[in-house]
Amino acid sequence: MRTQTESNKYEGQCKFCKKDFTKRQITGHLDNCPKREKDENIKNLRLRIISPYIKNFWLMVEVNNQAKVKDLDNLIRDVWVECCDHLSEFGDYGSEVGKGRIIMGTFTPGDSVNYIYDFGSSTELAIKALEYSNFQLSNNKRVELVARNYLPPSNCAMCGKQATQVCTACSGEEMAFACDKCAEKYHNEENEKEEHYILPLANSPRSGVCGYESVEPLDKLF
Ligand SMILES: [Zn+2]
Ligand SMILES: [Zn+2]
Ligand SMILES: [Zn+2]
Ligand SMILES: [Zn+2]
Repeated sequence: MRTQTESNKYEGQCKFCKKDFTKRQITGHLDNCPKREKDENIKNLRLRIISPYIKNFWLMVEVNNQAKVKDLDNLIRDVWVECCDHLSEFGDYGSEVGKGRIIMGTFTPGDSVNYIYDFGSSTELAIKALEYSNFQLSNNKRVELVARNYLPPSNCAMCGKQATQVCTACSGEEMAFACDKCAEKYHNEENEKEEHYILPLANSPRSGVCGYESVEPLDKLF
């Protein structure tokens, strides 16, 4: 399983050439990826979506001139946050951005908007419009995930191996991360009196929150 090499390197992958880039490098790369074909007649908008709290998580998304805010909501839910159909919102209290709006008519490069999923155990994200891009999106999509981070390194609190499970009851504590073996041991048998709720680790800032479980295997990026 491919993970980021260090917790402060923020590496991820370009969907098209499958090469590694840091969060800083990927923006420049997407305009110069050898696997993409530029078309000056196309004008899409490139967005970066990050977790403001855990810097290892980032998505690069391109949207065409038909894409609505709702389409972006669906993409964020699919890739990162959907657990039990919670409410979500773009913008801040009092200045919400309607989901029926066309993204390109609403944001231009340099603009930022906050996103919140679930007003209880919320996951907050920050979205920034970076620049226009001139590439056809795959399969006539309106929004496309074009690059994203690898799983951030996280070690099992018991043995130090790469974690594969997260206990939502212990979430926020050092004990939350575990490998399969130690999850079985620490978050079950030996601690029967305590409540534990183990979920498979996910490459998402919502991992370990509510009942969040990725539908895709841990190493599948696109
Ligand atoms: Zn590339
Ligand atoms: Zn939920
Ligand atoms: Zn372990
Ligand atoms: Zn636990």
